[in-house]
Amino acid sequence: MELFDTSKSILQEIKLNSPEFGNVRLLVKRDDLIHPEVSGNKWRKLKYNIELVQFQKKDGILTFGGAYSNHLLATASACHLAGLKSIGVVRGEELHASSNENLKRCSELGMELKFISREKYDERNEKTAQETWKEEYPFYLLVPEGGSNYYGIVGCQEIWKELPDEVDHLFVAQGTTATSCGLAAGGKESTRIHVVPVLKGFNSLAEMRKLLFSFLVDEETIEESLGRIVVHPDYHFGGYGKWNDELLSFIRHCREELDLPLDKIYTGKVFYALLGWLKNQQFTTLQTVVFLHTGGLMNG
Ligand SMILES: *Cc1c(COP(=O)(O)O)cnc(C)c1O
Repeated sequence: MELFDTSKSILQEIKLNSPEFGNVRLLVKRDDLIHPEVSGNKWRKLKYNIELVQFQKKDGILTFGGAYSNHLLATASACHLAGLKSIGVVRGEELHASSNENLKRCSELGMELKFISREKYDERNEKTAQETWKEEYPFYLLVPEGGSNYYGIVGCQEIWKELPDEVDHLFVAQGTTATSCGLAAGGKESTRIHVVPVLKGFNSLAEMRKLLFSFLVDEETIEESLGRIVVHPDYHFGGYGKWNDELLSFIRHCREELDLPLDKIYTGKVFYALLGWLKNQQFTTLQTVVFLHTGGLMNG
């Protein structure tokens, strides 16, 4: 089935034509190419959630997101492809289905949109709120914002299967941390996993620890997994959804000179952090560095 195919996600080698980057083989795992709308890590996170819906013979997925959410669009598109229904609960009661292109497209794909206040949205993960949604929509699987649940993490863990055996360093963006948790729960022990949170003042390790508990349960394994994480906390460019001219011209440079399209919310910030870090390392023995392109090109 087209929906479960990742063959378009190639490993692109980037040639850095400057000695300042040291001895490095730089590869980009192009998960953005999996599908134009079910793109990147959102595809990874939805895969087993969709399979679960099919297995349980439910009608579809009910999930949550902001007006520009890549996850809402990915869910709408994946459910459409799989012949399932979808409901998107959107943050902001003043919005409507034609407030922006993202929401328009979600609704075109058959997603039923429900707009709720920011206060109500903030309570979405509380037990009573979850129970109310479940009661109202018993034939839908509830999936948290960003697709960050157990099944989402399992889907991201699988990325390792498509990477070379020897990866010294892997760079990835962090929103909910589900992608980085999946990666931290797999791969070789010696691989350093570099995370770049796009939120300002974000406690990466604490957030990962919380999410890994729903996945690994065993404390020792969690701490071991977290021991491989390197956090780069200073590349959020002011916070979520913020950017400046420097980032925009960096993104333009990458598209024109390196044939690498990046978005300004997630992947642009990560690749900026990666190149900055490489310059400071001056590796003399050859290192394989992988940048996981998590997608996001539709909205940014
Ligand atoms: C959602 C998203 C992320 C964040 O991933 P998490 O698993 O929530 O940490 C990163 N990159 C892109 C392009 C995204 O759309």
